[in-house]
Amino acid sequence: MTKSSIAMAETEKFSANNYHPLPVVLTEGKGVWVRDVDNHRYLDMLSAYSSQNFGHCHPRIVRVLTEQAKRLAVTSRAFYTDKFAEFSKVISNFSGMDKVLPANGGAEAVETAIKISRKWGYESKGVEKGSAEIITCEGNFHGRTTTIISFSTEHQNKNSFGPFAPGFRNIPFGDSGALDRSITKNTVAFLLEPIQGEGGIVIPPCGYLREVRSICRKNNVLLVMDEIQTGMGRTGFDFAYQEEDRFGGAKPDMLILGKALGGGMLPVSAVLADDKIMGVLRPGDHGSTFGGSPIACAVAIEAINVLREEKLSNNAKDMGRYFINRLKKIPSPLIKEVRGRGLLIGLELYPKAGGGRRFCEVALENVILCKETKENVIRFAPPLTINESQLDWSLERIKKVFRILEKEN
Ligand SMILES: *Cc1c(COP(=O)(O)O)cnc(C)c1O
Repeated sequence: MTKSSIAMAETEKFSANNYHPLPVVLTEGKGVWVRDVDNHRYLDMLSAYSSQNFGHCHPRIVRVLTEQAKRLAVTSRAFYTDKFAEFSKVISNFSGMDKVLPANGGAEAVETAIKISRKWGYESKGVEKGSAEIITCEGNFHGRTTTIISFSTEHQNKNSFGPFAPGFRNIPFGDSGALDRSITKNTVAFLLEPIQGEGGIVIPPCGYLREVRSICRKNNVLLVMDEIQTGMGRTGFDFAYQEEDRFGGAKPDMLILGKALGGGMLPVSAVLADDKIMGVLRPGDHGSTFGGSPIACAVAIEAINVLREEKLSNNAKDMGRYFINRLKKIPSPLIKEVRGRGLLIGLELYPKAGGGRRFCEVALENVILCKETKENVIRFAPPLTINESQLDWSLERIKKVFRILEKEN
């Protein structure tokens, strides 16, 4: 038995079966590379679903994490801390929003945004208590809690987990007319991802974010953007909405961050909004024992510093363009489409290719780690620190994967 097969067998025996991992057992990481227990090296092109934007074990983030661990880690928000004060100021400046509410996981931050939207609706917009409605998009992914799966359109996310929470209405993603038609007097918010990540790297039509921004403003509806996956430089901008904001008017009322905000080290998430919205919360309305802990704050501050000082959003833009162009040149009859923004890239296969899972298994054998999203879309989302020669290295291997799959075909 290899070390790998022992670890896989123990995982299957002692853990819930809610994931279907690729057959590799990782034990070390550095930058864009990870190593398995049998000492093979792989290029990580998943980055923990965009949590590892800075590369594995970034030395600056490791240093801050360990130093803060020795100093003061968790206090709860029953007391003020120096690190929470600093984090609030840094992330407010970084996001251009007045105020932050810290949490841990992404789904928890989405839940927080839902609560704030509803309270804002009742207290500020004057919606009748208990009847607030939030509009969401078909194909969305916002997390796994019972409320959030209530507006999922993915069958497996919901199957067997009802009854579902009321107060949500789905419309097609990318169709601003549908938003305009769906708003009622009870609508408090429109919640969307600027690019749907889990939905298959779905990019809305150009101008969509500006249109929904203006429709929401006209109707006194909050525009809430879930940038848990697209934020922190991933799409070539600090936040994906900025691609359209350059021309003015795509800034959301509420911004949700997570994943890479934790520096690839800890679960750190945040909801950001201006005073007029965040101001509806009173002490006791909402909270989280670990949210805003000094250690989480220290790591998030350093993540933001590294993002800025290493100019990772720009690198994501340049490397993304380079990589997408080269993926598009792979002459395989199995490729339906290559699309993406920055280093959030989807390669869609024709169904005849044998499925995304098969692609990822062959990629693994060729030391490339990636994961399908939806049945036939491969997501390539390497750390934003990746360079051209590492991408070239991966392209040779990806071409080989296609040669193998074409033979199987
Ligand atoms: C990953 C993700 C979430 C959920 O985050 P968790 O930390 O897994 O709860 C929510 N929204 C989007 C867009 C995501 O990509």
